[in-house]
Amino acid sequence: MMKNNNLLKVRNLVVEIEGKKILNNLCFDIEKGEVIALLGPNGSGKSTLAKVIAGDLRIKLKQGEVLFNEEEVSKFSPEKRVSAGIVLAFQNPPSVEGLKMVDFIESIKVKEGFVDDKLIQREVNKGFSGGEKKISDLMQITSLDPKLVILDEIDSGLDFKKTEEVAKIIKEYFIDKGVAILIITHHGEILDLLKPTKTNIIIDGIIVGKDEDYKNVLKTIKKYDYEKCRKCTKFLSAE
Ligand code: ADP
Ligand code: MG
Repeated sequence: MMKNNNLLKVRNLVVEIEGKKILNNLCFDIEKGEVIALLGPNGSGKSTLAKVIAGDLRIKLKQGEVLFNEEEVSKFSPEKRVSAGIVLAFQNPPSVEGLKMVDFIESIKVKEGFVDDKLIQREVNKGFSGGEKKISDLMQITSLDPKLVILDEIDSGLDFKKTEEVAKIIKEYFIDKGVAILIITHHGEILDLLKPTKTNIIIDGIIVGKDEDYKNVLKTIKKYDYEKCRKCTKFLSAE
């Protein structure tokens, strides 16, 4: 019997906000342990898709299904999705009064010397820089034992060193442990570091193309803009 590797199956999603179709019959799959990139212009629906998968119930589905491990989860609360294994890394994690980073670190056994010593003695997210917040967020996520982590522009506002640090955590704690990753980004740097095996292009709320070579996609976008990805013959057609 063939092994079923399917983790997430998003089927025919339609989301309308104020009469405008934000997701337009969108289909999207992720296999177990897969590292997938999602690229698309501003306003194309990337964050909306991320939120629908993670269970932001403020976004009403007009149509469609979200299957996770064969189970229909589109009515699940965000908490229930986290227990199922779906986690969205938020861009502005809240600070936690009185709880020190070191408390988390102990619970998740972050390797010695891996994370900045000074950082772990501080209260969670209090006065953290953008990069420190993201690192602390990722470390908290490791304790949730996820099966799919969605990273919505985790690299935005990070310098190259911090991007490297963040990528190292993602690689060691998620990718190397078989956790699937959905990377939403505008930049090649994080893709060079995480090496997605598939890249999906979203325009106007629909996946218009897929490619196994993210460098191809980046090159096309840089040279011609996202629109060209609709026609590029190197792309596998979206189903
Ligand atoms: P992306 O992450 O690809 O930049 P988003 O998913 O954030 O795009 O947004 C897609 C479109 O939906 C945009 O045109 C945005 O203005 C619109 N949109 C998203 N959320 C809302 C909202 N709460 N109210 C009105 N429009 C929204
Ligand atoms: Mg966005």
